[in-house]
Amino acid sequence: PPVLAIVGRPNVGKSTLINRILGKRVAVVQDTPGVTRDRVRYEASWNGRDFTVVDTGGWEVKVEGLDLSVARQAEVAINEADAVLFVVDATVGVTSTDEEVVKLLRSSGKPVILVANKVDSQIQEADAAYLWALGLGEPVAVSALHGRASGDLLDRVMAILPEHSQTGGRGFDLGNRRVALVGRPNVGKSSLLNRLAGEDRVVVNEVAGTTRDPVDEFIELDGEAWTFVDTAGIRRRVHQTSGADFYASLRTQNAIEKADLGLVLLDASEPLTEQDVRVIQQVVDAGRSLVIIANKWDLVDVDRQKEFNRELERELVQLSWAQRVNLSALTGWHTNRLSSAMNVAYENWHRRITTAKLNNFLGELASAHPHPVRGGKQPRILFATQPSACPPRFVIFTTGFIDHGYRRFIENRLREAFDFTGTPIEISVRVRE
Ligand code: GDP
Repeated sequence: PPVLAIVGRPNVGKSTLINRILGKRVAVVQDTPGVTRDRVRYEASWNGRDFTVVDTGGWEVKVEGLDLSVARQAEVAINEADAVLFVVDATVGVTSTDEEVVKLLRSSGKPVILVANKVDSQIQEADAAYLWALGLGEPVAVSALHGRASGDLLDRVMAILPEHSQTGGRGFDLGNRRVALVGRPNVGKSSLLNRLAGEDRVVVNEVAGTTRDPVDEFIELDGEAWTFVDTAGIRRRVHQTSGADFYASLRTQNAIEKADLGLVLLDASEPLTEQDVRVIQQVVDAGRSLVIIANKWDLVDVDRQKEFNRELERELVQLSWAQRVNLSALTGWHTNRLSSAMNVAYENWHRRITTAKLNNFLGELASAHPHPVRGGKQPRILFATQPSACPPRFVIFTTGFIDHGYRRFIENRLREAFDFTGTPIEISVRVRE
């Protein structure tokens, strides 16, 4: 479907407007300017036509020393849209930020509707007229909060939105792959983030007044766009006070839950700690895909290397499916190997096995290696299915209880037959009498 981007400064009422367009409350509305939202894409329809609404979040284009990366984010958003709703706050008027965005909009050549929001009454409508001066055509006065004129607005949107997307929808893959960079303090998270982001490749979603809010960054790695979630906590060194561990762990948990992939950093130059193992376990327990990074490899000599491998083997027994990338954030050594591991994990996390293939496979497996007889009974596999992915979940129907060893055996064989490198898989067994 065609893509409609909603563009505007923080706090002009974009989320409220999106909720109006969608006819339900999904976009998170907050009074704090520039609170970044989790999801940026919504499916919408009006008069039987489907379209995609992209909430570009809020940005504040800094006037002094214009933040180019922020401008770039706006530019990307506009380029990838088929049409743009540019929202301004009629009660505030046109700010210099608005003017910057207007320049981008004009040069894009995309159809734009100028929306004057917070026009709650007829009298205020006259106030909105000065917005003609922006040169984007007639401002459409709405009150997203009260729903005033939003049907009218949608009719206009339909008039400028092409039947099919002209952008190929590719651009809004931007940030569709979400990754949490996690690990205990000092393992090198911020060093790696800086290394991956490079100088000009980062689009920092940094917004005024949100110093405590998690901030995401878009980073392109070998042509694939990733959203690194909650990077503010990584960039901003948090002071260690009592209870900091607890909050650090909460932050980690939050980041993991927002992400598809957990990148867990370890400091290979130091002994593996309980905290390291716990973070890895958090990723697995959350059912996210996983890549383990052994950082500071520049400090690792042959002896330490052997020791480190032993530590990993001992502590991470059930995680042979996880890829490990040895690298140095400091020197940049092997950081270019990261993205392919990330892609593998992410793609396998989405893997779906058809019911036919799954049952063929399990049928053959069970006849070659039947479940051992227990107490005179031998449970048989009746049928299996994969109800969902992300991570792949399997349900196996049997005639009796399947013991732990056999379940592991099935998991291992499933992993051999189909590629689940980098992703946990879940197998549940239902006994049918
Ligand atoms: P964070 O707390 O996980 O974000 O860790 P930082 O990125 O702040 O790194 C902690 C310390 O480790 C800093 O002094 C870094 O310079 C150092 N460091 C990070 N990566 C490497 C690496 O690959 N090799 C070496 N030798 N030092 C590193």
